[in-house]
Amino acid sequence: MPSLLAADEPRPFHVIQPPAGGCWVITCDHASNRIPRALGTLGLPDAEIARHIGWDIGAAAVTHGLAARLNAWAILQNYSRLVIDCNRHPGTPSSIPPRSENTDIPGNIGLSAADTAQRRAEIFDPYHAAIAAELDARATAGRATLYLALHSFTPVYDGTARPMHAAVLYNRYPHLSHALYNKLVAEPGMIVGDNDPYRVTDDSDYGVPVHCERRGLPYVELEIRQDLIAHADGQAEWIDRLARLLPMAAEEARK
Ligand SMILES: [Zn+2]
Repeated sequence: MPSLLAADEPRPFHVIQPPAGGCWVITCDHASNRIPRALGTLGLPDAEIARHIGWDIGAAAVTHGLAARLNAWAILQNYSRLVIDCNRHPGTPSSIPPRSENTDIPGNIGLSAADTAQRRAEIFDPYHAAIAAELDARATAGRATLYLALHSFTPVYDGTARPMHAAVLYNRYPHLSHALYNKLVAEPGMIVGDNDPYRVTDDSDYGVPVHCERRGLPYVELEIRQDLIAHADGQAEWIDRLARLLPMAAEEARK
């Protein structure tokens, strides 16, 4: 079987290595809407790949900006969640979705076991191995780690408008999420979801349950509404806000 990623295509993930080590690790599972050339467009028109089903619009720019401001180690997935979703357990129905929101994804229908295994081996596994290696190295060195899983959500899903500007998601170990929630709702006019419109579960998520909850690492999964960070001015505003609030939330969570 020829490899999925050609030699001239990006590696499965991009790492931002800070010049000096801060405590934050930022993951951006849905940073990109790129599809490996070998898969064409998965049978989709370009407009479908560009919309929220393909990626978390704005999340990569916020990750880059925050990594610089927080001196964070950060990792961004280089391929679309439609190829294989890096925040889903492999083998579950939404890992390589045959349908997303109201769109059928022809290139994900009727895959062989070998096709599925290849997407996992070339995209999912290396990304999560890199995260695990970084967390292992930090633990070995006795370095504190705070984990931020950064996502963005569509302002309208299946015809329903979502009023919240951002949301914190958590399951076990909610301290850092609660602390960030408290800081965000104190911002003027800010509507913040508390495990809404999504929440972290062992079945619906991969990064937080596997990398954080199994290790007992403090984490927050943060969702920002996509229309607020689709352009540079909104991205800058959210980078400033989070660079200010995340250290305050970390301090509060330590108490
Ligand atoms: Zn996401």
